[in-house]
Amino acid sequence: MPELPEVETIKNELLPHIVGRRVNGVTLFWAGLVRQPSIEEFFSRLIGQRLTGLTRRGKYLIFSLTNGEVLIIHLKMTGSLLLKSALAEADKFVLAIIHLDKETEIHFRDPRKLGVMWLVEDEDSVVGKLGPEPLEAGFTPQVLTQRLANRTAPIKALLPDQTFIAGIGNMYADEALFAAGVHPLRSGRSLSSEEVEHLHRAIQQVLWSAIGNKGASVDTYLRPDGTLGTAHFQFQVAHRLSGKLCPVCGTPIERIPIRNRGSYFCPKCQPQGV
Ligand SMILES: [Zn+2]
Repeated sequence: MPELPEVETIKNELLPHIVGRRVNGVTLFWAGLVRQPSIEEFFSRLIGQRLTGLTRRGKYLIFSLTNGEVLIIHLKMTGSLLLKSALAEADKFVLAIIHLDKETEIHFRDPRKLGVMWLVEDEDSVVGKLGPEPLEAGFTPQVLTQRLANRTAPIKALLPDQTFIAGIGNMYADEALFAAGVHPLRSGRSLSSEEVEHLHRAIQQVLWSAIGNKGASVDTYLRPDGTLGTAHFQFQVAHRLSGKLCPVCGTPIERIPIRNRGSYFCPKCQPQGV
């Protein structure tokens, strides 16, 4: 959390307000936010630049600057970027404020202080190892088939692996596997071509649906205007407590740990198979 739909929503909703804006200053309340370069370099290379664009890669936000460098932000578990006027007060969880011209501010809010910022010339030094974007045209069922071949790991461990596919985390992996009818412990290579097609379609459907609902506010995620997303109201299994009933067949949803993360699934709709 936040995953691709939340980060995509933040990108879409910040973009019209920040492109062309000049960075007039930065207030840093938590130095641990800046991974690279040094704090002094971060200030001197960022302040005075204009923001020329904002894109998303996986769960990363990439702000391009007039000097050719990029400011990259990862919100990790609990981060949000709030768009504020210069008169707004920062709440106690705001770790940094990027002051823009026209009395606009971006507040980087993160209760668990896990978020990270990088200022680099080469964005690939941060995002270069990510797997394919699941909503781009190049991500076909054939690509998914190739990436699953010979993989013995459980499919539920592969989907949130950012080098396998970019942007999916625990909750959308659970949702996609439920929609595809695939048990989370199935190995990657055990999926039939029909199951891979179902999973491919399910991944795209759950992500597009969640973007349409502006992300899921199951934890601390906020849209840039401070409001909540509603994608979690559409969840079928993710974040359901064990014992809640499957919305399709009425069987109690089960929760099992896979690689130390809770996985929610319906044992009837997602049979383990052979
Ligand atoms: Zn079911």
